[in-house]
Amino acid sequence: MAFLHHPAHSRWRTVATCFHRSPLLPARRRRESRSMMSTVPARPELLVPAAPAAMADDAEMAEGLPEDVSGDDQVEQLYDFLRETQRLQVITGAGCSTESGIPDYRGPTGSYSRGHRPIQHDEYIFNPWSRQRYWARSMFGYGAFALAKPNDAHIALARLEAAGAVEGIVTQNVDRLHQKAGSRNVLDLHGRSDRVVCMNCGHQLSRKAFQTQLLLLNERWIGRHGLGEELQNLDAHRLRADGDANLDDIVDYGSFTVPTCQRCGGMLKPAVIFFGDVVSPAIKRQVNKQVENAEGLLVVGSSLEVFSAYRLVKLALDREVPVAIVNKGVTRLEREGLGDMVLKLDARAGHILKGLERRALQRGGERKLLSG
Ligand SMILES: [Zn+2]
Repeated sequence: MAFLHHPAHSRWRTVATCFHRSPLLPARRRRESRSMMSTVPARPELLVPAAPAAMADDAEMAEGLPEDVSGDDQVEQLYDFLRETQRLQVITGAGCSTESGIPDYRGPTGSYSRGHRPIQHDEYIFNPWSRQRYWARSMFGYGAFALAKPNDAHIALARLEAAGAVEGIVTQNVDRLHQKAGSRNVLDLHGRSDRVVCMNCGHQLSRKAFQTQLLLLNERWIGRHGLGEELQNLDAHRLRADGDANLDDIVDYGSFTVPTCQRCGGMLKPAVIFFGDVVSPAIKRQVNKQVENAEGLLVVGSSLEVFSAYRLVKLALDREVPVAIVNKGVTRLEREGLGDMVLKLDARAGHILKGLERRALQRGGERKLLSG
C-alpha cells in the first residue's frame, strides 16, 4: 500500500509502504522492501560518514549507540524515508526535549495535564503582577533548564547534519539544545530562553546575567518566603514547560522585584515568543524558504497543535513534499484526517533518531545493504 498520494514521488511510492495503520511490517514484506531499496542509489553523503569533530572523542556517546538496530521496524521505516530525501528539513517540538528533562505541554505528563497555563503575551506586557509572577517562577526553574543537556535525539540530528543527511532544523523549542548538541543550521522559531531583551531599546543580556540580578534584588523576598532550600534543590515535579517552576501560589508575587533595562529603564522580556504573540516576519520568511526548498520534512516531537509549526507541515504537503512524523501521541494532522498523507511513527524521539543515525552512518551496514 502506497502511503503518499503524490504523483511527484512515484519512486518513493514503490519503495515505502504505509505503516500508519500497521506499525509492524511483516518480515517478508520487510525483506521485499529492502530488496527494492538495494536497487535505489544511496545518497553519497551517507556512504562517507563523518561525525562532527566535536563529538568524535565522546566515548560515552559512542558506547551508548545500539549494537544492531536493523531489526527495528520504525528505524527501518524512517531510514527508508531518509534515503529518498536529498534535502531533509527537520521541525522539532517539545517532545524532542522531554528526554532532557524539560517538560512538554501536551504529553501524557506535560504541563497541561498538571494544570499549568502558559503566560500569554498580552498578560506579560500589560499586567505587572503577571510579570512579577513569571520572573519569580522563572528564577526557580532557571537552574534546571540551564543544566539540561542534549539527549540522543539532539545528538543524532547534529551528526546527521554533519554527515549531510539533514539540511536544517526549525525548532519550536527555546532551550538551545540543538545548538548545544552541535547542530549548525537551526532556526529558533519561537526564540531563545537564554537571552533577555529590552522591549524599549532592544538591548540584550544573557539570561544568566539576568538571573544574578533577580537573585540580588530578591534576596530578602526569597528568605521571607523560606524558599532558599527550594532554590538550591528544586523538586523536579515543579518544573514547567515555560522554563519556570510551579511555586505554590501562596507567595506574595506583588513584592517580587523585576529588574529593568540598565540602559533605558525599559521593560525586559525573555527573547521568546509567548503564546498570543506572532513570529517575526523575518524569521517567517527564513523558515518558509527552508521548507519550500526541502525535498522531505521530518517532524520530531511535536503534536503540531501550535499553528506556526502546523502551517509549515501544511506548506510541505501542499507542495507534495513527503512528510514523516516521530511523535508520541496523536498529532493535529491525524485529528484533521490528514494522517494518511504522512509516515507517522508513534514513538519517543531519542530511541528512533539514535537508531536512525546509527543505521544511516554505519558504513559497514550501508555496504551490506547495497550489496545485498
Ligand atoms: Zn532598554
